[in-house]
Amino acid sequence: MKISALNGFKDILPGEVELWQHVENLARDIFARFHFSEIRMPILEKTSLFARSIGEATDIVEKEMYTFVDKQITMRPEATASLLRAYIQHGLHVQKPVQRLFTIGPMFRHERPQKGRLRQFHQLDVEVLGAASPRVDAELMGLGSMLLTELGVSVSLELNSLGCPVCRPGFREMLLQFINERKELLCDDCKRRSTTNPLRVLDCKNPKCREQVEDAPSIQEHLCEECDTHFSAVQHNLQQLKVSYSLNKFMVRGLDYYCRTTFEFITKDLGSQSAVCAGGRYDGLVEQLGGPKKVPGIGFAMGIERLVLLLQQQEQEQTPEKGIDIFVAGLGEKAADFAFPLVHGLRQNKIIAAMDHEGRSLKSQMKQANKAGAGWALIIGEDELEKGVAMFRNMATKEQNEIAIVNDNNELLNILIEQLTTG
Ligand code: ATP
Ligand code: MG
Repeated sequence: MKISALNGFKDILPGEVELWQHVENLARDIFARFHFSEIRMPILEKTSLFARSIGEATDIVEKEMYTFVDKQITMRPEATASLLRAYIQHGLHVQKPVQRLFTIGPMFRHERPQKGRLRQFHQLDVEVLGAASPRVDAELMGLGSMLLTELGVSVSLELNSLGCPVCRPGFREMLLQFINERKELLCDDCKRRSTTNPLRVLDCKNPKCREQVEDAPSIQEHLCEECDTHFSAVQHNLQQLKVSYSLNKFMVRGLDYYCRTTFEFITKDLGSQSAVCAGGRYDGLVEQLGGPKKVPGIGFAMGIERLVLLLQQQEQEQTPEKGIDIFVAGLGEKAADFAFPLVHGLRQNKIIAAMDHEGRSLKSQMKQANKAGAGWALIIGEDELEKGVAMFRNMATKEQNEIAIVNDNNELLNILIEQLTTG
């Protein structure tokens, strides 16, 4: 019986995996430029961690989590909660007042699978803990923008502020009043949300709801003085970095823990899966999870699947399979026996080498060498072996010359290394 992968769970095959490596390598490179350290957390956590941080009334906690109900544990749907749990558990604030951390890995959400939306997906996640300055908000958006620019994907940055516990309740009341005047025209989800989480009505995807909230009050105009100053400074700092952005009063983000700055990098090229990266500030969250008081935090997460889709769509040169340095092609068992330790020796010397183990014809082995993008081939035919020579062939120019095979193949190894490393 044939068994396939679960719906929404995907294998990443050679051919595509190179794009993943490219994304991850570039991300690591840029994280290092910004002086971030890597942290890796487990995939399973107590369910209560996510319920308490992400919020009971969010889509993620209400309907998207993979939970082992009997054990009250959940496969992480995002990284921030786990990262903060680790930060608190290991007292990382004691080691350094400001922690700049990143993590890369799989997340799990039970959503309807579609292009750019999976049930196991992967995020590049960046968090700064212990820094309240608006410059850090701009620095993080600058980092995101640098990564997306260097990847060559085209996105726009949308920015909002969600205020803080001082100014948000007042705005919430005002918004509630606005919503109640139109409640009958909203979708059922929004009717429900209007009592639990009225801000979420602002980012409903339903066109009818969008139309209704078009003229809703903007939180940006109802921030307290401190939030307003912070928001202006973030914008000034973004301008200093020449990171362009637009303000979006409808962007509220689905997670409860955000305050002040929230942002998304959006693409037009992935249909409704338009968010490539999303993040924001969460100043009260560390304390809420039982950590030290007054540790501000901010972070973002980028979806790797969506980045890879964008790279594939660009039809830019697909990164070809990385070519090998040398293919050792031998005809017959004797030649294979001779080639086997030779290939191992080349690999010990950091040379990418391959050979055939199936006793194929020389012609077929040369085909393999071509397919593997070999720069050179060492051809050991039956006659050659008899004469004590092998053919060393430049695969691009097709020029070849004889090299002596000596019984002790160290000497041959040294000649090959010399040839291969000097070009
Ligand atoms: P969306 O609005 O697309 O559902 P989200 O607001 O739920 O996104 P976040 O929780 O902020 O997303 O996660 C950050 C990023 O992770 C998203 O911008 C997206 O690139 C990626 N992402 C989120 N959910 C998925 C998923 N199910 N499959 C693939 N990527 C995802
Ligand atoms: Mg979602």
